[in-house]
Amino acid sequence: MKIGLDFDRVLFDTDGFKQHLFEEIEGFDRTYSEAKEKVYSPERHAEILGISSGKIYSILEDAENFLYPDIEKLDTLEHTFIIVSRGDKKFQNIKIEKSRAIEHVDGLYIVQDDPKDVTDIDFLVDDSKEELENVDIPGFHFDREKHDINDIIKKAEELDG
Ligand SMILES: [Mg+2]
Repeated sequence: MKIGLDFDRVLFDTDGFKQHLFEEIEGFDRTYSEAKEKVYSPERHAEILGISSGKIYSILEDAENFLYPDIEKLDTLEHTFIIVSRGDKKFQNIKIEKSRAIEHVDGLYIVQDDPKDVTDIDFLVDDSKEELENVDIPGFHFDREKHDINDIIKKAEELDG
């Protein structure tokens, strides 16, 4: 079974990481919402803040500290896991690479305009209801307060059987 996994708030503690960015860059939180076009743009954000975008990118080096450690459970499974993330291609690619999530999955797709049922995945795990409504495959509405990686494995087994 080919399983699509959202990255932010499923595999990665996005809110903790955002908090880290808020602490590292003055005014980051205040101006964050202005830095969104279709998706978050670090270049636009840097422009608003009057800093170089390199400053924002440099903090992505810390992303590894915000990866949920239970991602390791994926390593022993037969399923194919593909990260399907929505956002700015460059920013998401670097963030996901620096988080080292790549080492535990079989592929990565960053989408911008398209729904997330790319690369013939059978099933999508996402914390966003909207993302799940926009695809024609079964989905699992994931909530880190209630679920962990074990619940994804259970759900995949249900669909498989
Ligand atoms: Mg998400």
